[in-house]
Amino acid sequence: MVVGVLALQGSFNEHIAALRRVGVKGIEVRKAEQLEKVSSLIIPGGESTTMAKLAHYHNLFPALREFVRLGKPVWGTCAGLIFLADKAVGQKEGGQELVGGLDCTVHRNYFGSQLQSFEACLSVPELASKEGGPETFRGVFIRAPAVLEAGPEVKVLAEYLTSSEKEGGQGGEKVIVAVRQGNLLGTAFHPELTADSRWHSYFLKMAGEVEEGTSNSTVTIASS
Ligand code: GLN
Repeated sequence: MVVGVLALQGSFNEHIAALRRVGVKGIEVRKAEQLEKVSSLIIPGGESTTMAKLAHYHNLFPALREFVRLGKPVWGTCAGLIFLADKAVGQKEGGQELVGGLDCTVHRNYFGSQLQSFEACLSVPELASKEGGPETFRGVFIRAPAVLEAGPEVKVLAEYLTSSEKEGGQGGEKVIVAVRQGNLLGTAFHPELTADSRWHSYFLKMAGEVEEGTSNSTVTIASS
């Protein structure tokens, strides 16, 4: 399996390194033709407005939308999640172009500015292994988005309980930070910036099942 990583801007090198750790080759994708050589795609975190401008400049949006429409597995982390959402709010005036496909409304900077970046322990039942491995995952949130609304086909994989008004609200609110809809996976945080490879393993397993047509939107991973 060769996984493409959109390499216009942001943490694409970190995703390629994380894929290497789980024994999979990740290749940089910058042109529409390169998408034809990969069976699945990761859209990294970074800055979604800049990434959208670069994708527009390289005329990548039609090919990215076609990739999603064909049912190929795509994982968006942070800015990548924003890219995959059908709708984004909290944007600069005029908004930005999105790939879409995820029936979600995402707030671009739900948790505030760079200064409000944080790490948090999340409960992710789908990351628990059959052998009783933990379901907790330490999420790195950097100017992170959150999913405000998710459609009926969207499965919520993780929520974050806000603890103070700094974290986008009065505190004590649950916000959606990881979702799956068929061939699409979205995380508001950055698994590629941690040494824990379980999200990459999850995506690869999901991609394998989507490609084989055996996906039922649930993946059980073995502990690594
Ligand atoms: N909030 C940022 C954006 O709008 C995303 C931040 C990130 O990817 N770390 O693009």
